[in-house]
Amino acid sequence: MSAITQRPKGTQDVVPNEVHKWHTVEQVARESAQIFGFREIRIPTFEDTGLFVRSVGDTTDVVQKEMYTVSATGDSTFTLRPEGTAGTIRAIIENGILNEGFPQKVFYMLSCFRHEKPQAGRLREFHQFGCEMIGTANAKADAEVISLAKSVLDRLGLRGIELNINSIGCPKCRAEYHKALKKYFEQYKDQLCETCQGRLEKNPMRILDCKSDEDKKIGENAPIILDYLCEDCNEHFEQLKYNLGFMGIDFKINPRIVRGLDYYTRTVFEFVTTDIGAQGTVCGGGRYDGLIEQLGGKPTPALGFGMGLERLILTMQNQGCGFIEPEKCNIYIATMGGDADAVGITLVKRLRDEGFFAENDLVGRGLKAQMKYADKIGADFVIVLGDNEVESKSAKLKNMKTGEQTDISLNEDFVEAFSDVYFADMMSDDKMQEMFSALAGDGE
Ligand code: ATP
Ligand code: MG
Repeated sequence: MSAITQRPKGTQDVVPNEVHKWHTVEQVARESAQIFGFREIRIPTFEDTGLFVRSVGDTTDVVQKEMYTVSATGDSTFTLRPEGTAGTIRAIIENGILNEGFPQKVFYMLSCFRHEKPQAGRLREFHQFGCEMIGTANAKADAEVISLAKSVLDRLGLRGIELNINSIGCPKCRAEYHKALKKYFEQYKDQLCETCQGRLEKNPMRILDCKSDEDKKIGENAPIILDYLCEDCNEHFEQLKYNLGFMGIDFKINPRIVRGLDYYTRTVFEFVTTDIGAQGTVCGGGRYDGLIEQLGGKPTPALGFGMGLERLILTMQNQGCGFIEPEKCNIYIATMGGDADAVGITLVKRLRDEGFFAENDLVGRGLKAQMKYADKIGADFVIVLGDNEVESKSAKLKNMKTGEQTDISLNEDFVEAFSDVYFADMMSDDKMQEMFSALAGDGE
């Protein structure tokens, strides 16, 4: 097949039959953000390349291997955002939001681009729900941000997702740790991958985040950062644990998490599932107290997380979680030609004006085929219009589920009469039962 009839490697189409899954995670994420007091921010898809090099870090996989950099006419180069934090912080500084009082709490829902090897749960274009809290160094804020991520996972009905936390200290305690790490990795220098040999001098902590199996194995016995934390960082980590305990959020301390982006300080965390194979990190985040100053703003502590929507949906599917059902057709008006067609068109318009999901035939099908179509699209009710109905201005309204038929007038009060029947049906025992089991997440 030629390239123009195939989507680019590592991208996904979301077809209409699947889009309700996306609506579910987007809606739940937005609602959770809102009840935690986070406001939405929207930023450009591309930024100056230098922004990512400076914030994500020039020894990270993202900057060294994964950026999609595009050049426009002239000499500027831009990079499609590989993550949301850098652009969000740039926007917060540029728009003077730091002057509006602290903490500032924002969230975003956006696509990210990374030139990675595509696998299940690892794409080249993927989507993140993320949040950032700016202007507080308090460990209560760390617990709150973690609690927002957990709230999204819980509200989606996900189970068995483990929270791993760690502290990677501040530049002060990290200086000692870097020395110890360097000393350790130097013994294995020749066995490290080429990229990590380069990292040994500049940023040895990055080696701990390398995806190569051999480097990972060497890293297993490396010194751990928790043994090198300064007093303040240690106290901050203790406070975080205390606050999580207080909130009833279970966690595991995992001293191996260093995260793949350079801007992190102190708290780092990941939510991990074992239900979608190797790419099990559904959410990653942490504190980045130095980033705002590094990007030219006033020194301001901040933190946040990014959640991969594709991985969330995969996990929900594998765990049999419920999705918000797509809206189905409320009423189909079948017509048998002549005047009935014209009346059908006006009735559909009147129904839609009042917010009902109404359809009629647009392809010239016979009555039988129209009924089949109404059934296929899951219409709740059907009306058949022929000459008799048009003449008597009255028709039969059929409930497709129960088969029950009611007479309905096609006069002025038509939409109101339909509305009465429709809402009475909505409140019926069967429908209520259906709705409750959907809310309880009894599968798709
Ligand atoms: P990983 O270790 O899996 O590569 P990461 O540390 O690079 O993840 P972050 O930069 O922290 O990931 O991004 C936050 C979240 O975005 C991840 O936890 C994951 O859910 C999702 N994510 C990251 N990269 C991809 C990708 N290529 N495809 C799909 N989702 C991704
Ligand atoms: Mg990665």
